[in-house]
Amino acid sequence: MTQIGTEAQPLRVAIVGAGPTGFYTAEHLFRNKEVVVTVDMFERLPTPYGLVRYGVAPDHPKIKSVTKLYDRTADNPRFRFFGNVNVGEDISVEEMLAHYHQIVFTTGAETDRPMNIPGIDLKNSHSAREFVAWYNGHPDYVDYEFDLTQERAAVIGVGNVAMDVARILCRTTEELATTDIADYALEALSHSKVREVFVLGRRGPVQAAFTTPEVKELGEMADTDVVVLADEAELDALSEADLTDSADRATRRKVDVIQSYVGKPLTGAGHRLHLRFLVSPTELYSDDAGRVVGMKLVHNELYRTESGTLRPRQIDKFEDLTVGLVFRSIGYRGVPIPGVPFHDSWGIIHNQEGRVIVPESREPVLGLYTAGWIKRGPTGIIGTNKPDALETVKCMLADLAEGRVRQPARPEPEAIDNLIYERQPHCFRYADWLKVKAEEIARGEAQNRPKVKFTSVDEMLAVLEK
Ligand code: NAP
Repeated sequence: MTQIGTEAQPLRVAIVGAGPTGFYTAEHLFRNKEVVVTVDMFERLPTPYGLVRYGVAPDHPKIKSVTKLYDRTADNPRFRFFGNVNVGEDISVEEMLAHYHQIVFTTGAETDRPMNIPGIDLKNSHSAREFVAWYNGHPDYVDYEFDLTQERAAVIGVGNVAMDVARILCRTTEELATTDIADYALEALSHSKVREVFVLGRRGPVQAAFTTPEVKELGEMADTDVVVLADEAELDALSEADLTDSADRATRRKVDVIQSYVGKPLTGAGHRLHLRFLVSPTELYSDDAGRVVGMKLVHNELYRTESGTLRPRQIDKFEDLTVGLVFRSIGYRGVPIPGVPFHDSWGIIHNQEGRVIVPESREPVLGLYTAGWIKRGPTGIIGTNKPDALETVKCMLADLAEGRVRQPARPEPEAIDNLIYERQPHCFRYADWLKVKAEEIARGEAQNRPKVKFTSVDEMLAVLEK
């Protein structure tokens, strides 16, 4: 029998999910010198790039330039793209196993960490993820509606996604008009009445999950005053001790930026962004129509757990905050893929260093792997996924070297091709995507914007028919 991983019989790999991690996985596979690999990448949307296209904020264009590297990977003759194909619906994992030696799941975290407080499901209470997907033109979210007639909004959580949401709510139309924000979102936000945004952290400045450039950027917006209360910016003894002990300069810098907002004179700007600390919403209030009209906040203090981290603990101090719009931004969560063992409480695929495992026995499932957020949870920046994908690829190549590899019945590339087109005649290839992308860029040039996105699959199909 011919050896797998040679010109005559390449290692056939399917990657499910065309976000950054999917591309890093493909790149690492192609870079290895010993094994000849072909990659078929599956993506449920017609478009690649995952969160770089539908997650990264439109006013952060530099971060998006990373897609050039993904296009270079896709240019490899051993790479094929199957967009608009939903693994689990159009084709099952079991069916795919008949065609590939190895399958890698890089599907990210497609839903939200739940927040269980009374009223969280009221009208005008949304997850930040929905708002982000909406303003970025994700085809599944174009019909979402956000009540921007409200003057006061709250964002729960102080991670970088909370920063993105707060900025988009506070940016002027002029600031947004030069970005690739979805056209309908630009239009809706240009009529926004939101004037005050309260960003709510349950712990203190030292523990805030956002990074320094992001919190600094809040103060650099064209028409926004940032407000931080002196007593909330002041560090408690435990946080101060942590900061001193760790000599963590990055966190010190972040705290300095937060504290620099204290007492800053208001300029009369059109937006006011309140960065709050040591408060937790415990309940959302509604009017008779079931809409949010406010929330109850409890104040917290920090205590040290046995593991040494500082956690929030309620104290006997409460306040009511009047807000008509709420975004919970407390983290993402992975979605199970039918046929793949899923850790329900962690929201990730059961795995060890990227090898999918059977939870009970912890034995690897032959031929199944995972990388990125669906492997480790929704943490880190885009670049964090590169070493993460490398760890998985090392396991894949080691398993092949040691003969732990599947023998698919139909490894020839045409077999899966035929099956996909039977199931999804509107499958997008990479060349199709590049055509759509070129058209988006051309539309953008006319408006001095990086691109004007197509936001429905039908619109994208129409481009291909031109
Ligand atoms: P995140 O960084 O994990 O932040 C989640 C926030 O929610 C934390 O402040 C957390 O507070 C808070 N939280 C969790 N449960 C809560 C609860 N029950 N009540 C109140 N607050 C709660 O998540 P993210 O903002 O979704 O970002 C995900 C990842 O993407 C992060 O690694 C982030 O850095 C990255 N990202 C990066 C950029 C960028 O580089 N510009 C932009 C967007 C996202 P505790 O810390 O107290 O748990």
